[in-house]
Amino acid sequence: MNERASTPSVVRWNEVREALARAAEDAGRDAAEVTLVAVSKTFEAEDIAPVIDAGQKIFGENRVQEAKGKWPALREGRPDLELHLIGPLQTNKVRDALRLFDVIETVDRESLAAELAKEIPKVGHAPRLYVQVNTGEEEQKAGIPPGEADAFIRRCREVHGLAIEGLMCIPPADEPPSAHFALLSKIAKRNGIRILSMGMSADFEEAVQLGATHVRVGSAIFGRR
Ligand SMILES: *Cc1c(COP(=O)(O)O)cnc(C)c1O
Repeated sequence: MNERASTPSVVRWNEVREALARAAEDAGRDAAEVTLVAVSKTFEAEDIAPVIDAGQKIFGENRVQEAKGKWPALREGRPDLELHLIGPLQTNKVRDALRLFDVIETVDRESLAAELAKEIPKVGHAPRLYVQVNTGEEEQKAGIPPGEADAFIRRCREVHGLAIEGLMCIPPADEPPSAHFALLSKIAKRNGIRILSMGMSADFEEAVQLGATHVRVGSAIFGRR
């Protein structure tokens, strides 16, 4: 064991992985079906590097600018990392986002779908795309309202030629998340979508119970922000 293996974040990362495996087992699912996205927003490269060295390959960031500042250096010599954008994407940052991210989880409006379709051929690199659904229909939260999700997904695919592979949601903080996870799963099923990005530090076990394929866990690994 090297010294870094005992840093608090690596210890917590191992605990989260164990909890995730248990949650999958409890749900009668194969643990390999659930991918842990380690959310490293606000943490510095020096906090993130030990978790990479311990074996975590998939990370989430919520700001393009912040990711641009720390990930190019972190990725050097580590070709197998995968970076997910999990925060709102402004259309004027699409080109940067396409260069930085392997997955964009926050496609949430027509103007963004159009900009992605326009820029992907220019950048020559197409990240995998998820649609964010505002399951709680909260005004301050990004995401397409659930009632508009089917039509939006169809337009992304048919009008903009975007392959939508997943759905993502962030349930309201003050409600039990299960109904939101179930709703996301239902929208996914009827649109032929297999990937469900749902569940964070406080509720990833419930998300796994309800079919999450990707959980986005930050503070349970890296500590308080
Ligand atoms: C910050 C964030 C997370 C991680 O939240 P924790 O509660 O720290 O696990 C997950 N998803 C999104 C979209 C986030 O912005």
